[in-house]
Amino acid sequence: MASRPKRTPVRRSAREWKRRLTPEQFAVTRRGATEPPFTGRLLRNHDRGLYRCVCCEAPLFGSSDKYDSGCGWPSFTRPAEAEAIRTSEDRSFGMIRTEAKCARCEAHLGHVFPDGPVEATGDRWCINSAALDFRPDGEGDDDVH
Ligand SMILES: [Zn+2]
Repeated sequence: MASRPKRTPVRRSAREWKRRLTPEQFAVTRRGATEPPFTGRLLRNHDRGLYRCVCCEAPLFGSSDKYDSGCGWPSFTRPAEAEAIRTSEDRSFGMIRTEAKCARCEAHLGHVFPDGPVEATGDRWCINSAALDFRPDGEGDDDVH
């Protein structure tokens, strides 16, 4: 058995995140911005592997749960592990949506919508490429399946 990923919360100041992230990564993960649709570098990525939090490297999504929703952002039917992601109600921009955040570092990832494939979970986890760091299979130490 591979060892379980550490659940130690990661807390850094805005200044420190700014130093570690690109301006786009910072705007999305620490300020809740959304990258323009159909622009993310991982949108059309079909390689097998693990999608990690760009801020703290927590494993968030597996490639086997990624699907092409046509919405313009990488879409998944479920997180790699339920406890990897925290959801909460987001009432910004006059809409009621479910926001998805990294449970470890509270990075904003995207939103969850109830219009995913019914043959899977029925959920669409609509996630910004800028919030993710993709590791192809065979790289990394604490792979989850
Ligand atoms: Zn994180």
